[in-house]
Amino acid sequence: MDNEMISALDIIYPRRCPVCDGVIKVFEIRNGHLRRGGYIHRGCAKSVKIVRGSTCMKCGKPLGRSSTDEYCSDCVRVQHIFDRGFSVFEYRSISGSVYRFKYLGRREYAVFYAAATKKLLGDRLKVLGIEAVIPVPMYRGKERKRGYNQAAVYAKAVSKILALPYRGDVIARKRDTVPMKELDATGRRNNLKNAFNIVRNDVKFKCVLLIDDIYTTGTTIDELSRVLRVAGVERVYFLTIAIGRTT
Ligand SMILES: [Zn+2]
Ligand SMILES: [Zn+2]
Repeated sequence: MDNEMISALDIIYPRRCPVCDGVIKVFEIRNGHLRRGGYIHRGCAKSVKIVRGSTCMKCGKPLGRSSTDEYCSDCVRVQHIFDRGFSVFEYRSISGSVYRFKYLGRREYAVFYAAATKKLLGDRLKVLGIEAVIPVPMYRGKERKRGYNQAAVYAKAVSKILALPYRGDVIARKRDTVPMKELDATGRRNNLKNAFNIVRNDVKFKCVLLIDDIYTTGTTIDELSRVLRVAGVERVYFLTIAIGRTT
């Protein structure tokens, strides 16, 4: 048996695979021993692509195996306000999973995402001197309607597994914003103008890790970074579950 406790909840609400959404057995026989089922079907684990190889030194986007570039095409054009980004999965290989995590209540996937985060990036994140793990905030009305903020669910799981302090009370989203995918670059920036504010005036962090589900253009992370820098934060890193390939 694993040393992890089997909770009654696991039997009443069986854990689901973050890739195919099928039920994962609470127990399975492995090497002749009864073991607790994992977080993902072993076959499904093979279809998920981890971000590896050379990545953009700014946003962390995979650059392709043969690339000798230091930055992706986006980061060559745009002066980002954050310091450096990290992501765990290539977006296309996990998009369905992230969709269910975000919109269909599959909060349990966070445990798998966080475990994969620790395995891939734990050592690198640990040495950055992060004083607070901060989720990209959701507008309160929207969060009430959806029931949870997926970035906060992932951030809490990361904070726990990496033993870094979680701070969901630092920044708030003052108003709802138009979905970013409906806007061009200028529209995206204008859409976020004054959307966030620091809600604690006793914040004295020098180094923080912002957390979101997906990294696309970085407009949201940049705007949050700007607000944090104004408040005196010196280094702003971000971490997302998934990131797209460079275009
Ligand atoms: Zn599966
Ligand atoms: Zn980049």
